[in-house]
Amino acid sequence: MSRIAPIALSACLTANAFAADLPIFDTHVHYGLDVWEAMSPKEAVAILRRAGIRAALVSSADDDGTLMLSREAPELVVPALSPYRKPGELASWLSDDSVPAYLEERLSKARYVAIGEFHAYGDEAVLPVFKRVVQIAKTHRLYLHADSDDDAIEHIFRHDPDARVIWAHAGFEPVDRVLAMLRKHRNLWCDLAMRGRIARGGKVNPEWRAAFVEFPDRFMVGTDTFSAERWREVEADTGAVRKWLNDLPPEIAERIAHKNAEALFSQ
Ligand SMILES: [Zn+2]
Repeated sequence: MSRIAPIALSACLTANAFAADLPIFDTHVHYGLDVWEAMSPKEAVAILRRAGIRAALVSSADDDGTLMLSREAPELVVPALSPYRKPGELASWLSDDSVPAYLEERLSKARYVAIGEFHAYGDEAVLPVFKRVVQIAKTHRLYLHADSDDDAIEHIFRHDPDARVIWAHAGFEPVDRVLAMLRKHRNLWCDLAMRGRIARGGKVNPEWRAAFVEFPDRFMVGTDTFSAERWREVEADTGAVRKWLNDLPPEIAERIAHKNAEALFSQ
């Protein structure tokens, strides 16, 4: 028995060391007006670095937050352009005719990889402003970061069959719906921000494990820092994510942790 214990211990240490070191590409960060009034860009970047976040897809209401964070840490921030010019436009943007011109203007002044995160559900995705935004993304070769249900995602691919969509929170849809959508749409990727039920006590739910094995290239992690409170939870949140990633085969864990996002945004 005494010969077995050291082997088990070393295996355990190796696994834990892997989890602790695993770099994270956080694909769901916001640095909005109400946050930057409470927390400087320097403080926000320090939080991301302490959590071992190597890169972050950042969008903010308004967009100046993203640009401030990007100036503070250009090597860390991957900018996405929010259609919201102030906090609280989650629903009103869909009927605001000035949104497309606003996006075009910002796109002419700085480099972004995505439009979003935006919110649209069901038939909201057939409204003229929404269709126009999908066209702008197509013209500028940008991803769409959509907090949407599966209906709205289907509409996006009807507007542009070649659209590339990052599905925020995997739509909060159950795993079988997520899988059905991934099988149907090759240009659909999921961020797993705030999907607490993926794992319990660090053990990945068997259905989610099967999804990760079937589509190791389509899932990414994120925190969703929509408030100063959420920023204070980044380190703990990222630690909990590392814990369940450590329950997956290392090559799948690395992809979900950072390699999938790196592959998307290096194109
Ligand atoms: Zn969000």
